[in-house]
Amino acid sequence: MMSTTSTKLKEVKLYIDGEYVESSSNSLFEVKNPATQEVIAKVHEASYEDVDRACNAARRAFEEGPWRTMTLSERSAKIRRMAEIILERKEEIARLEAEDVGKPYPVALEREIPRAAHNLKFFADFMEQKANESYPMDDEYLNYTRYEPLGVASLITPWNLPFMLTTWKLGPCLAAGNTAVIKPAETTPLTVSLLGEIAKEAGIPDGVVNVIHGFGPGSAGEYMTTHPEVDLISFTGETSTGKAIMKNGAATLKKVSFELGGKAANIVFEDANLEKAIPISIQAAFMNSGQVCLAGSRILVQRSIFDEFVDKFKQAASELKVGDPQEAGTDMGPVVSEEHYKKVTSYLKIAEEENSTLVYGGKRPNLPEHLKNGYYLEPTIYIQENPNARISQEEIFGPIVTLIPFDTEEEALEIANNTDYGLNGVIWTDNLQRAHRVSHHVRAGTIWVNCWFVRDLRVPFGGFKKSGVGREGGSNSIEFFTEAKNICIALK
Ligand code: NDP
Repeated sequence: MMSTTSTKLKEVKLYIDGEYVESSSNSLFEVKNPATQEVIAKVHEASYEDVDRACNAARRAFEEGPWRTMTLSERSAKIRRMAEIILERKEEIARLEAEDVGKPYPVALEREIPRAAHNLKFFADFMEQKANESYPMDDEYLNYTRYEPLGVASLITPWNLPFMLTTWKLGPCLAAGNTAVIKPAETTPLTVSLLGEIAKEAGIPDGVVNVIHGFGPGSAGEYMTTHPEVDLISFTGETSTGKAIMKNGAATLKKVSFELGGKAANIVFEDANLEKAIPISIQAAFMNSGQVCLAGSRILVQRSIFDEFVDKFKQAASELKVGDPQEAGTDMGPVVSEEHYKKVTSYLKIAEEENSTLVYGGKRPNLPEHLKNGYYLEPTIYIQENPNARISQEEIFGPIVTLIPFDTEEEALEIANNTDYGLNGVIWTDNLQRAHRVSHHVRAGTIWVNCWFVRDLRVPFGGFKKSGVGREGGSNSIEFFTEAKNICIALK
């Protein structure tokens, strides 16, 4: 049997100006495998001096070129080469991601790492094919728009999909001609750290891609969001961190794009096809142990089918195999860290205090000996009639889902919109008019009808309300990572 135990302790350095370097303060922190608590890496923590060097290297690489000044086709070819190298190394990267995050290896191998490669290739292609606007004024003047690179970008990503989410930002950042300082979450830095050597091998000039490691406040995260050489910040993470970053970036007026938390309503109407709705709702609730911003963590079910839905959903949850992320057939691994485990499991007590009905789970699963220290929780299902209960309102970001009954479409909409978040929503119905009507009234950035997690990289992606600021995806990403310039020419 394959085990999660790694054979060698890794040392993860900072990647600054084309070189892997040690922290100038000699400070290192540990990273654990969440399935076993085994220490798998020691990571160099960037001091202010290190962050300053990374930001200055990115500035020099931006100002002096040749990244910004080379032809678009040359630049795009190098980004596409990065994508190819990722695919060539996908087993190794997926293995590392599974070990670091605790996600099932096949999910990393078959979905996330190929998607990471696609993120880079897509934006290289997209930039080459993008047409710019022109506005002729009679026959006297011609206006045309150019999208020019903006400068140095801070790219900050969370721990749930580290490699995939970093490349989602790095693709458009580089394709537009900017340079980057990247910081992954301190709990999961292993795969993102490889982006330095991958960029080097692809021929990307030194200083264009820098990767630093560290924590948030009073550490690398804060330094890279206040540094005067940074022009823009693309951040994915918690809503409260977004607020802190906006404040920190305000003094130097940095442009920001935020993808933040969510608490999606997954609304199941009585005419829904349950054959499809049940397995996909299970995925939406428990994929990546529920640590997905787009998770369908509140399932609103019409009362006439509520009991049937509960029985079938419970049965499907009981069939999920919780276990070793590195083993074939595992559907769900642990949550990412001890700190997060404490947060997630604190909701078991909250649910009990709120008189929620436990339908399934709520305990540590029975696991083999080598996983006895892992941060595991069974897939957990509650029924809660009160949509204002904390488990129906707060982003738990773990394998806990709340089922809420409703009677009418109006009531479903009221419950769905009764939240500070607005990242996404899911609707299950065979009634076409209702599908459109409800989609228009749910206040969220993405609505999936009779599906979930289907992503086309051309479409706008982001949140309403406290789920985000701005949009990324397709031309939205390019607009964020560029300055639009209008040129007006007299034709006569
Ligand atoms: P956090 O907000 O805690 O951290 C995200 C990143 O920000 C980490 O790299 C973190 O570093 C860094 N950071 C923390 N504080 C600061 C600061 N003051 N200044 C600069 N950087 C800082 O999020 P999590 O890692 O806990 O990720 C989970 C969250 O991400 C959930 O809310 C989830 O919904 C959201 N998310 C949103 C997505 C979306 O597309 N909308 C997609 C995926 C996740 P460190 O880890 O070292 O503290």
